[in-house]
Amino acid sequence: MKNTNSADYDRGYRLLPSVDQLMERDEVKQLISRYSREFILHNIRELLAAIRNEISKGKADLQEVKKRAEGLIDELRQRLEAQLSPTLRQVVNATGVIIHTNLGRALLCPSAVERLQELSCRYLNLEFSLEEGRRGSRDLPVNRLISLMFPAKSCVVVNNNAAAVLLVLNTLAKGKEVIVSRGELVEIGGSFRIPEVMEKSGAILKEVGTTNKTRLQDYERAISPNTALLLAVHQSNFRILGFTESVRMEELVALGQRHGISVMEDMGSGNMIDLSPYGITDEPSVGEILTKGANILTFSGDKLLGGPQSGIIVGDRELIARVKENPLLRAVRAGKLTYLALEATLMEYLKGRPEVSIPVLQMLSTSLEELQGRAEAIIEELGEAKGSSLKVEIMEGASKVGGGTVPLVEIPTRQIAVTSASCTADNINRKLRMRPLPVIARIQEERVVIDLRTVLPSEDRELVKALKELALAD
Ligand SMILES: *Cc1c(COP(=O)(O)O)cnc(C)c1O
Repeated sequence: MKNTNSADYDRGYRLLPSVDQLMERDEVKQLISRYSREFILHNIRELLAAIRNEISKGKADLQEVKKRAEGLIDELRQRLEAQLSPTLRQVVNATGVIIHTNLGRALLCPSAVERLQELSCRYLNLEFSLEEGRRGSRDLPVNRLISLMFPAKSCVVVNNNAAAVLLVLNTLAKGKEVIVSRGELVEIGGSFRIPEVMEKSGAILKEVGTTNKTRLQDYERAISPNTALLLAVHQSNFRILGFTESVRMEELVALGQRHGISVMEDMGSGNMIDLSPYGITDEPSVGEILTKGANILTFSGDKLLGGPQSGIIVGDRELIARVKENPLLRAVRAGKLTYLALEATLMEYLKGRPEVSIPVLQMLSTSLEELQGRAEAIIEELGEAKGSSLKVEIMEGASKVGGGTVPLVEIPTRQIAVTSASCTADNINRKLRMRPLPVIARIQEERVVIDLRTVLPSEDRELVKALKELALAD
């Protein structure tokens, strides 16, 4: 404990300049020319209050107070800089999870980014018909593309797929029954649970079958005059294996038709293409599900579709027209930035080479040879960043699609495994994460693994830099 008395406090306080004195300093005047006076004033007051507080608690001696007083302007500048630097920053995704929910899911394709750049700072005909000179529909641009892809269908775009499910259930089944298999009452990402969304929508959940087996008769027996929908839900982040049985969409559609009941699927992924060339065989596309006869379909824009965060509802025109009349739509509709990016993304599918232009599909289809080549080049670049105890080697591994899609699919990949005799995997991982440009990797059997599948080729140089830093610090 320092021996401080009130005279020391007074002397300490007197070493500090007043707010007015600081505001008159040239350096501060310069800051005021860049930021608002109020902002600077507020920060100076807080800074001085913090130092006074330390003095009063006897934490700072006179010498220290003097030094702080001299460095006050620098401290102020640092404070302002810290406050004005954005919280959201670029990171390198080296986890091998392509649609990583915590890292922002799908990356936008270049044409979507271009559209945002061009039009987000200008007026646009968001919901204005140039032809008629009056209010138009904001779904028109996306609808035009969807009906080119899927004739006789139309669509509505909302904030995300959770909102899409809520809106459709509320529109078509409020106060009525929706029949769902017990094997499909899923929870996605902790907060989206089918039974709870159903309850919020005002629809009545009618569970049928069991966790592992549900048959067509189970649905059929549950149908009553109050049944509004037969709902199929993509199991997303889990699979039940072994002794299982579920009803195919075609059968569900036939049953629905016999009873005049619409069939809905909450599809989730929004996959638009045949993914079997990439080893994914159990993820039907939007087109396939519609061909099988589903009347209304909901999916995310930022999963396998590879676009902006959004929820897309595609379905029979008559059903979509009802969804559009629901006042709840106003609360969950998508903004103009979403429409700009989504239109450009869908356009890539029409152009016909989405696996080249859409990052999610690009990453999915990157060949092992390419990944191996990149890994070798990175290790070669590292060269003699050795002499340290850091060990870097190429390893075979598996990437994941992520985003609650196809949980069992493992895509063969190449990883760079990093270990050190003097540093734990946790520590290496933390160092990578705390860099100015964070590299987010995974720990696997006491090794840090960097999966190149989700690292953009343009970020390889950053990896070399990060590994060199590790070697130096080792
Ligand atoms: C991901 C997913 C959702 C939630 O979609 P968000 O766009 O994240 O709101 C709902 N249902 C299924 C089947 C999903 O896979």
